[in-house]
Amino acid sequence: MDKTSVAHIARMQLEKAARAMNLSEDLVTVLKCPKRILQVTFPVKRDDGTVTCFTGYRCQYNDARGPTKGGVRYHPNVSADEVIALAAWMTWKCALVDLPYGGAKGGVVCDPTHLSEGEMERLTRRYTTEIMPILGPHSDIPAPDVFTTSKTMAWMMDTYSMFTGHTEPSVVTGKPEALGGSLGRKEATGRGVAIITRELFTKLKRSLEGATVAVQGFGNVGGYAAFFLSEMGAKIIAVSDSSGGFVNPDGFNVPELMRCVDEHTCLAPYPGEKMDKDEVLYKDVDVLIPAALENQIRGDNAPRVQAKIIVEGANGPTAPEADEVLESKGVHVVPDIMANSGGVIVSHLEWVQAMTGLYMGEDEVNGRLEGRLVRSFEAVWRKAHELRVSLRTAAYIVALERIAEVHRYRGLFP
Ligand code: GLU
Repeated sequence: MDKTSVAHIARMQLEKAARAMNLSEDLVTVLKCPKRILQVTFPVKRDDGTVTCFTGYRCQYNDARGPTKGGVRYHPNVSADEVIALAAWMTWKCALVDLPYGGAKGGVVCDPTHLSEGEMERLTRRYTTEIMPILGPHSDIPAPDVFTTSKTMAWMMDTYSMFTGHTEPSVVTGKPEALGGSLGRKEATGRGVAIITRELFTKLKRSLEGATVAVQGFGNVGGYAAFFLSEMGAKIIAVSDSSGGFVNPDGFNVPELMRCVDEHTCLAPYPGEKMDKDEVLYKDVDVLIPAALENQIRGDNAPRVQAKIIVEGANGPTAPEADEVLESKGVHVVPDIMANSGGVIVSHLEWVQAMTGLYMGEDEVNGRLEGRLVRSFEAVWRKAHELRVSLRTAAYIVALERIAEVHRYRGLFP
């Protein structure tokens, strides 16, 4: 098996937790493979009149607990392997925070920075049409992920609705508020990362006031995580995105960084002290927040990480060999499925609101988000201490216990 395969990494994490909890071999066999993966290739008319074919995927990993849920990413590195891993992580994430969902993920192999808005719309509408047979508010509900936004969700919702003949706002989440998007959804993942960091600090009897933070990736997750952490008193001293890295030992004014990304789509034009973008991982900070892509902290570079706390804003940023290194150094790693679950938690609230037509105020959304995060983190913390395992393995065990219970009740068909 290819060692760089992220699906392989996802299976290794599953097997490690399964061993620690004595999960039945039969269930491990089931959970090691995705239930369904659809690959589609479709043509899109470019602005210059030519046609380009794109390849996309949608993987529904496991639906034992309910309709499958997960984002759609547009990125040149999207592959079947990556989508499978991300869909597995969504399955564990939804179970860990006790949402009535299974896990899914989709993606299109493309470079959105080289597509016009019109091309993005045509690509999104055609991709939605191609995966339409497996979508639906009771079967599979997409959301934004890397390089997709509320606008992408609006096109997906409209395309789906055109085919069904009625407006169906509950088929996607992360929509613009005017279309039934939930208040607080955009900020939810980053807000969740900050809340979970605060919870960990409380457990460690430490204060966030003046704590130093480095953030890798300054998209929707990294940006809002930095924003809410600085509101809680932490100092964001290093940030990076794919365009470059910046340091400020006194702590950044985060809204200024966010404004730069809003205006220029990246950090590069920010007028501050530059550094190599990879350096962000190795800064001597209290907290490191990888909020970019998978496989950033690996066996080869983990020894260089100085932070004693890592809160995973991205999905799958830490490889299993790096986990071993970090564990031996006593680093607390809050796993992705816990740390970045705020997004899907508010997605669930958005789906409930769209299904019922009864909309919640922002305080109610944020209150429910915080309550679910705090309860779930408490369960993970207790499990880690009870079984003397890492927070990642503990989070997997909490999630897998829930999934196992559902599989037991439902039995094996036929
Ligand atoms: N793409 C996000 C994630 O990885 C959100 C998924 C959702 O809201 O369905 O958790």
